[in-house]
Amino acid sequence: MKCRVCKGPAVIDVRRHNANFCAEHFLRLCRDQVAKAIKDFSMLAPGERALVAVSGGKDSLAVWDILLELGYQADGLYLGLGIGDYSDSSGAFARAFATERGLTLVEVDLPTDHGFDIPTGARAARRAPCSACGLSKRHLFDDAARQGGYDVVVTGHNLDDEAAVLFGNVLHWQADYLGRQLPVLPARDGFPRKVKPLVRLGERETAAYCVLRGIDYIVEECPMAAGNKHLGYKEALNAIEATSPGTKHDFYFGFLDRASHRFADDAGAEREALGPCATCGAPTTGEVCAFCRLVERAAVPVELGRRR
Ligand code: SF4
Ligand SMILES: [Zn+2]
Ligand SMILES: [Zn+2]
Repeated sequence: MKCRVCKGPAVIDVRRHNANFCAEHFLRLCRDQVAKAIKDFSMLAPGERALVAVSGGKDSLAVWDILLELGYQADGLYLGLGIGDYSDSSGAFARAFATERGLTLVEVDLPTDHGFDIPTGARAARRAPCSACGLSKRHLFDDAARQGGYDVVVTGHNLDDEAAVLFGNVLHWQADYLGRQLPVLPARDGFPRKVKPLVRLGERETAAYCVLRGIDYIVEECPMAAGNKHLGYKEALNAIEATSPGTKHDFYFGFLDRASHRFADDAGAEREALGPCATCGAPTTGEVCAFCRLVERAAVPVELGRRR
């Protein structure tokens, strides 16, 4: 197995590109793919301040590392979700990465700062944990970016994530979600711009990137993910990819090129109706935003919540 670039011994094969790479040229490939995504979708401009949503997992640490390598100014944001040991150790990986490199990591802790953790909060509000978690993350990322004066929020969604979300949205013809499923969401009415610079890399590649760069990340999955529909969609796409390498890429980028604009009006309808949340001022379609409604129902002392 020889590196496509230098013909030296390869350490990884990337079947989607029908090529093998040595460590140096694989790392370069990862950076080039991120630089291309940033350029093609106008994600970031030089001098802008980026806030990277860091979970302690491979994708968010890889994207933070690559942005810094590419010369961007990027701080991290870690959100403590109060998911038992998983949160304790994911936080430790995020902090270690930042400390070892002298980086700024902003921290928000859901139980301390907002009075609930995801498992008990979701139960109290009668929501699926991932739904309570997703809406909390979106709200708190936006909030932290606004407060810190950041231009853009960066997330570590990779090609596998985006292809799986697209697959789910197509299976159920979620037209409004399809209209918003872009690697860049522009800033508007108090929302910072949101970008996904890893859309050209698969999760096997971000894991290999971390290993080759000596980045320690949390390997275990969030315990709340069990039964999550997206895991099933990922498995289905992996089965197709195994026999037809490149299918995930074609599915996702074909959608962006040829279909996503057809759903723009479906997403636009909701955008029209935004006003400030009566409680926190964040943009929302209702009187009170979904996060404030969740806090109202879920915020009980965590100890008390556990006993319910
Ligand atoms: S799996 Fe669900 S609960 Fe766990 S971090 Fe992801 S969205 Fe949150
Ligand atoms: Zn090489
Ligand atoms: Zn609110």
